[in-house]
Amino acid sequence: MQFDKAMKLKRDAKARNLKCTHPELDKEYYLGSSTGDWVCTTCGESFSEQERDELFEAKAKKK
Ligand SMILES: [Zn+2]
Repeated sequence: MQFDKAMKLKRDAKARNLKCTHPELDKEYYLGSSTGDWVCTTCGESFSEQERDELFEAKAKKK
């Protein structure tokens, strides 16, 4: 996902006071190159590789 799209999602999510569980993350791109971070396709929140792993681990434990 492009950085500017993520920023827009983030603004919208904040405006709607969206409670997001970050069901799907996409690689974040800025000007065509990967930033190395991940971004939630629902709310635009960005995560480092480590934060992404922790998020997925936490979800796995809930099952
Ligand atoms: Zn999210």
